[in-house]
Amino acid sequence: MQKDASVQIDLDDATQIFVDSFKKWTDADCGDGKHPRIKVVNLGPVECKAHEYNKKAGNANVILFHDDVWPHAGAGSTLALTTVTYNVDTGEIYDADMELNGANVEFTTGIDNVLYDLPSIATHETGHFLGLSHSADGTATMFADYMPGSTELGSLENDDIEGICAAYPPGDPIPASCDPTPRRGFESQCNPPEITPEDGSCCTTAPGAPRSAGGSALAALALALGLAAKRRAERTRP
Ligand SMILES: [Zn+2]
Repeated sequence: MQKDASVQIDLDDATQIFVDSFKKWTDADCGDGKHPRIKVVNLGPVECKAHEYNKKAGNANVILFHDDVWPHAGAGSTLALTTVTYNVDTGEIYDADMELNGANVEFTTGIDNVLYDLPSIATHETGHFLGLSHSADGTATMFADYMPGSTELGSLENDDIEGICAAYPPGDPIPASCDPTPRRGFESQCNPPEITPEDGSCCTTAPGAPRSAGGSALAALALALGLAAKRRAERTRP
């Protein structure tokens, strides 16, 4: 988490909501009591309050709130944005950052008087953080629209569980040697000094393809405000 969290929710409460959200994905039941083979580790608060991926320096996979100004398009209709930088050949995630639109959205955390349910939005965004895209399944937590007043995205549906289990198939226990350090080291500050050569060794860019040296790409996925009540009506609970 970015250390300032939000005027709407303090660091401890925000951290707990995101810890709980990640746990829903890592605890997903893939069958036979098995779970996705991934571990999420909280490395503590960071200073940097911006999405960035440093090709030549350390990084943080940060979750932050923009309380004053939403710096991206769609300020009035975007609840949150998660940007994932990944290797286009292997799918390896190099960096993931999550931004929440505190400037335009009034988040709530309880089950009474729900406005924009932060646990729901956090669960959707942590799905992106782990590499999932949007689902066309209107019942799924990874469906792209959120209906104000709903807490339903806070629980995973079958489509979500199938997605995370396919992305991280269950297997042997994760070894203790598995290292959660971000790419090129954990860095709390923005724009740290360069420490290593850039990813990749050459620099071919096909015309029209915004592909950087080293073959990494960005996927930015926004959770939008739902405009129809269709989804709520179609959604059923087991
Ligand atoms: Zn989304």
